[in-house]
Amino acid sequence: MDATFLARVRADFPDIRFVTGERFIFRPPRTVVVPKNADSEADALRLLHEVGHALSRRWSFDTEVERLKIEVIAWAKARELAPLYGVTVDDELIESELDSYRDFLHQKSRCPSCGLTRFQTPDGVFHCPKCEI
Ligand SMILES: [Zn+2]
Ligand SMILES: [Zn+2]
Repeated sequence: MDATFLARVRADFPDIRFVTGERFIFRPPRTVVVPKNADSEADALRLLHEVGHALSRRWSFDTEVERLKIEVIAWAKARELAPLYGVTVDDELIESELDSYRDFLHQKSRCPSCGLTRFQTPDGVFHCPKCEI
């Protein structure tokens, strides 16, 4: 990922604000934070992922499943954009990024009392099928 790439992305998405920060993150509605030392091919793909968040216009979530969906959508956008910028799509990178959300989902789903997988209702509250009868 070089300066030319970032300049091209900036020019192509004038509605998105790119700022320098600690790590890649998207701040709704239109700010993408880019780490100062971002330079690898993986970073280029991560940048397109954050752009994907901005373009998908789906930012809020009530449940962890919805949150995972939002991530999947943003990666799908990154896949679409990558060839336009000659960026290689690294499936392993995408899967490992998604895995962190999947792990988080599993962790949060575990019932602290009995260890069973709980379900989350649309209001975001987790319920245990065993403990909450
Ligand atoms: Zn994301
Ligand atoms: Zn339980």
